[in-house]
Amino acid sequence: PAPPPARHLFSDPAEVEALRGNLLAWYDRCKRDLPWRALAATEPDADRRGYAVWVSEIMLQQTQVATVIDYYNRWMQKWPTLQALAQASLEEVNELWAGLGYYSRGKRLQEAARKVVSELAGRMPRTAQDLQKLLPGVGRYTAGAIASISYGQATGVVDGNVIRVLCRLRCIGADSSSPAVIDRLWDMANVLVDSTRPGDFNQALMELGATVCVPKAPLCGECPVKQHCQAWRRKLFGKPHPVPDVEDCCVGDCPLCPPATEPWDSNLGVTNFPRKAAKKPPRAMRMATCVLERRGCHGAPEYLIVQRPSSGLLAGLWEFPSLPLAQDLQEEKEREELAGQLQAWMGRPVAAKGLQFIGKVIHIFSHIHQTYVVYSLHLDGDVTLDPALSPSRWVTEDEFHASAVSTAMKKV
Ligand code: SF4
Repeated sequence: PAPPPARHLFSDPAEVEALRGNLLAWYDRCKRDLPWRALAATEPDADRRGYAVWVSEIMLQQTQVATVIDYYNRWMQKWPTLQALAQASLEEVNELWAGLGYYSRGKRLQEAARKVVSELAGRMPRTAQDLQKLLPGVGRYTAGAIASISYGQATGVVDGNVIRVLCRLRCIGADSSSPAVIDRLWDMANVLVDSTRPGDFNQALMELGATVCVPKAPLCGECPVKQHCQAWRRKLFGKPHPVPDVEDCCVGDCPLCPPATEPWDSNLGVTNFPRKAAKKPPRAMRMATCVLERRGCHGAPEYLIVQRPSSGLLAGLWEFPSLPLAQDLQEEKEREELAGQLQAWMGRPVAAKGLQFIGKVIHIFSHIHQTYVVYSLHLDGDVTLDPALSPSRWVTEDEFHASAVSTAMKKV
């Protein structure tokens, strides 16, 4: 394909130099104090730096900084080194990860730590290319972040924040999730990255997206790179610089401009960018869940939890016995199905009428809109479950909260 028009690129070395300088000066003044930054800046051991940045980056995927801080601190206290993490059990990892969501991240992190210890003599790979090639669960972004922040490799990174900032800086209005646009953004990030302070530069670009160039109401007036921002110029002057008009690009079927059918909307200003193809709506699913309760030996109530399979959604986590339901089932039928399942589990009759309906709990996973239909059942005497089925155990309320259970189950 023909190269995109100059206005979508950073082709002027003087401008690139000025942008780097402005962004880094702003970062030095305004960056947030975050525990992994402090460690990456002061830890003399390169493997420990790499490990700390790796843990923080995996936790930060799909999760807000404010939520991650506490998890990160507890994680590093418990497993301060790769070696310590490699010796942990998956159950311990899931327990610490409980509530952070996207549970396979913790599991993969631990598998990769084991690999570094057993196959790489405990030494973290030092380049983005090797990190991505050798560590399971480490993609292009995470590899670039670890290599630039921990080892000073001059390599760019592209995450959601960087996508937004770059699309605005260069008026990129084509679908920002398309491979063609993503490739261009990686090229740009690699051109822009500062070779003397690559880790700081990458963090600065992401920090700008997280705190100033935010999705809905960006603070352009306070932005350290506004003089380099084509979207900002377009908003102020009605046209970008130096090319006279944003729609001009579309004449040649520009692959980076907004589609001709959805041109610049002056009501949106800089938030015309980035643009994404509409997401598929989440799939609706229903699940019958039964909170089985008994009196424990000390008189306190205990609840039965069972372990989910080791792959798929919420792999290896514990939950109240649950059963997927068809969407259009009548309530009476739902009860019967749940009673049948419990009967098979416990090897004794369970009357559907004995199940008390408690309510419904909605939980949104990234791609699933899940409705839990919650029942409860009090049991007398001892109940044993078929050990050939999923592992199960009785827990008190406190033990339940300390177990590897999902946020959805805590809501239940
Ligand atoms: Fe984002 Fe506004 Fe700065 Fe442009 S000027 S990079 S749109 S905050």
